[in-house]
Amino acid sequence: MANNTQDKMDRLNSLCKRRGYVFPSSEIYGGLNSCWDYGPLGAELKRNIKTFWWEAMTNRRDDVEGLDAAILMHPQVWVTSGHVAEFHDPLIDCKICKSRYRADDIIGVTKCPKCGNESLTEARQFNLMFKTFMGPVEDSASAVYLRPETAQGIYVNFLNVKNSSRQKIPFGIAQIGKAFRNEITPGNFIFRTREFEQMEMQYFIYPSEDEKWFEYWREQRWNWYMELGINKEKLRWHEHGKDELAHYAKKAFDIEYEFPFGWKELEGIHNRTDFDLSRHQEATGKDMKYFDERFTEKFVPYIIETSAGCDRTLLTVLVDAYDEDPSRGDKSAVLKLSPKSAPIKAAIFPLVKKDGMPEIAEKIYSDLKKKFKVFYDAGGSVGRRYARMDEAGCPYCITVDGQTKDDDTVTVRDRDSMEQSRHKIAELADYLAVRVQVG
Ligand code: ATP
Repeated sequence: MANNTQDKMDRLNSLCKRRGYVFPSSEIYGGLNSCWDYGPLGAELKRNIKTFWWEAMTNRRDDVEGLDAAILMHPQVWVTSGHVAEFHDPLIDCKICKSRYRADDIIGVTKCPKCGNESLTEARQFNLMFKTFMGPVEDSASAVYLRPETAQGIYVNFLNVKNSSRQKIPFGIAQIGKAFRNEITPGNFIFRTREFEQMEMQYFIYPSEDEKWFEYWREQRWNWYMELGINKEKLRWHEHGKDELAHYAKKAFDIEYEFPFGWKELEGIHNRTDFDLSRHQEATGKDMKYFDERFTEKFVPYIIETSAGCDRTLLTVLVDAYDEDPSRGDKSAVLKLSPKSAPIKAAIFPLVKKDGMPEIAEKIYSDLKKKFKVFYDAGGSVGRRYARMDEAGCPYCITVDGQTKDDDTVTVRDRDSMEQSRHKIAELADYLAVRVQVG
């Protein structure tokens, strides 16, 4: 079982490399542990996921504004937020083989799981923030951190966004951006990396309405994964027990996905109370309290946070879509991506490279590419072209054949059912639009 699981992740990993989804970072130098680059299809898939999130969380709503804050922030922010004091994982080393473990991964273990010796150190606290220096002098006064979460950029801009957008509570601020954590045990492909992108939204509310908004956002976020096309059976809720709750949280639920390596967190929904704004108010002296005529008193807003990982969502989309179907021949892998997230929406083939078929296919390609990400391929047998597109996750393959010249029709082959149907060339754009567009 463990081997099958590992094999499946290895096969997905090699498909990702072969088809240009994900490459090891700096590969020609031997790679850099837990860092990955997104290739042509991966970059497109990532962009689709981010657009899908941004549309749902900001553009289609009146009560959430977007933000794009800097990665480097005033170092005091991380003191105020509690990250300097609290953002630690307990780390255990093996004195002989130098392996490193998160203490909570090896609770009760006395021998090093790798070399088998009784050579494990006591747990010591390890801060997960990356530190660097601003300007030419590398001293403690010039130290800054790469942000370990995007949320703080939202809190420190609460007043700016509120005043400039004239939003009234309840309202939210959404942001997509890079975060960095010096994880002790990164791994499982792009599941846990040291550099990753988050998609976070902070919703500012009247304190006594926290339960209502918490439930509201849980439902919204669950439905988002449904709309993205993730298999419902592979998703579940996990409520944080008292011992798991972060120092700032009153209540927390994770959405988990069943990866081949187990149920793991995809996204957290947290009731952060007034912790963040109160702390920043205390540290800066800036008044974070809110008042409008609907409320009887001034108050520091409570925050409901939805915090998702973009790379983790992308891995989920790939794992959920990956299938092996021996009926498709020796290249049996297929990525059954939802047409909405698929990087390439349709591929256009001439059946053969003669009889005017390439010219018609090229014309279809250049017309469709004004609206959709499409791909032209005239190389190899049609079967091989289908197989390449199946692996790339392309939902539709359009083929120009002998009949096209007579009646202006082409075949459209559906990736999942492998069935073909004939359609007028003039109707192809509409055919794709209803299937691939978000919304
Ligand atoms: P975990 O328990 O997996 O370390 P966390 O509880 O620390 O995650 P949060 O701080 O709540 O995670 O971050 C919100 C989201 O950001 C996570 O649900 C995940 O999708 C993403 N994320 C966090 N750390 C990483 C990482 N090292 N690599 C990729 N994504 C991450």
